[in-house]
Amino acid sequence: MTICCPVTQEPEPVSTANIAKNSLKIALLGCGNVGAEVARILLDDAAMLTRRSGTDLELIGIAVRTVDAPRTVELPAELFTTDASGLIARADLVIELMGGIEPARTLIREAITQGASVVTGNKALLAVHGPELYQLASENAVQLSYEAAVAGAIPILRPIRDSLAGDTITRVLGIVNGTTNYILDQMDTTGADFAAALAEAQRLGYAEADPTADVQGHDAAAKAAILASLSFHTDVALDQVHCEGIAEITSADIEAARESGLVIKLLAIAERLQDEEGERINVRVHPTLLPRSHPLAAVHGAFNAVFVEAENAGELMFYGQGAGGRPTASAVMGDVVSAARRIVLGGPGRTETASGHLPAADIKTVRTSYSVGLEVSDEAGVLAQIAGIFAHHGASIETLRQTLRPVSDPASDTQPSAELRIVTHRASESALAATVAEVRALPVVKAVTSVLRVEGI
Ligand code: NAP
Repeated sequence: MTICCPVTQEPEPVSTANIAKNSLKIALLGCGNVGAEVARILLDDAAMLTRRSGTDLELIGIAVRTVDAPRTVELPAELFTTDASGLIARADLVIELMGGIEPARTLIREAITQGASVVTGNKALLAVHGPELYQLASENAVQLSYEAAVAGAIPILRPIRDSLAGDTITRVLGIVNGTTNYILDQMDTTGADFAAALAEAQRLGYAEADPTADVQGHDAAAKAAILASLSFHTDVALDQVHCEGIAEITSADIEAARESGLVIKLLAIAERLQDEEGERINVRVHPTLLPRSHPLAAVHGAFNAVFVEAENAGELMFYGQGAGGRPTASAVMGDVVSAARRIVLGGPGRTETASGHLPAADIKTVRTSYSVGLEVSDEAGVLAQIAGIFAHHGASIETLRQTLRPVSDPASDTQPSAELRIVTHRASESALAATVAEVRALPVVKAVTSVLRVEGI
């Protein structure tokens, strides 16, 4: 039997018949975790990059704050400067890897208005000022590319923008923050509590000393805004993303999820809604219960994955390293070569379109399944009272599990407790909130121990 395999080979060199430029001057802004690796690739792999882009990619300088700070990669000292604007003025293509809002925003605007294409990994900047910068790039007929801004090395933005350009994306579910995935995975696999799992993430360098942006969901929310804007061809501002973090997740929540065949993940969710109010979108970040059989449940440690549902393509999954200098530099370099090819061939820049103009749905109207944990008195009639309240508010119960809590001193006359774990059918957040408020007020309910959204059931 003959087995035919695709032959792996170097791609055809880009045709030089119609070259507008035969050398591109590249300015790099920032030389930290990612920037240093980008500089290394530009210098070490120069011959390969020339073959693939059809032009020499000449690194003309690296702008930093401190010229003689120690670097993770050995680089020629003469490349370093603190004059970012002076560097940009000489460049055809600018790679921004400084991070933060300013001076990154001003420097990117300078580059674009001077006719240079820009590659960036700055999700915080794009989530707030993306539409303004895309518009400026379009007006100046240059490219603004940012594959590295979402999920590090994983090619996800180009597939959404280009490969799925002829399809309609209905939903995107992403594990787009490696720190929180690591913490939740540690809690699930080792039984550690939140504080211990966070400390371990910090020890291993997955979490910053100040983990707020990760743990509170802000980093994932910035990525969700970018994913939603591209998926739905609609400008989605960061303040339109409903955001909840993982700091409140307890070992008991993790344990209860496991007993129900579920796992808790921090998901960025962007979905297209079609109901009596018309077509709208909803973008949110929150801890979510997923069945263990769902593809995203198998994403462990600090890895990232994005699950895309499209009308014709069906379900697609993109998986890989969501951070780290080298993996993120790979995504940056993909954008650099792609931008260089277009500059070389004199083709039109790739521009973002916001033609969808879909309104954002109020989170209170969005319908999802919920898991509600209750501690109740173990006495007759309790279940009927609680089920009646759920039904009254239209949050119908899909499953209910009851566990009897042992009383520590059997001789005491303390009323025994039971733990209830209720999973609802899809209900709006306002219906669920009203249900929980009424249940909480029942004398037989000792505590509402958790309220979590469930996806994928
Ligand atoms: P980083 O290690 O903190 O490096 C930042 C670099 O920018 C440093 O070299 C710093 O110079 C320079 N810089 C900062 N402010 C500056 C200023 N005002 N003027 C001149 N230079 C300035 O950052 P990173 O981790 O490489 O991240 C870079 C970008 O990639 C960020 O937007 C980040 O969100 C994004 N990203 C990072 C990752 C990742 O895994 N790290 C993943 C995806 C996306 P000095 O060295 O002189 O201080």
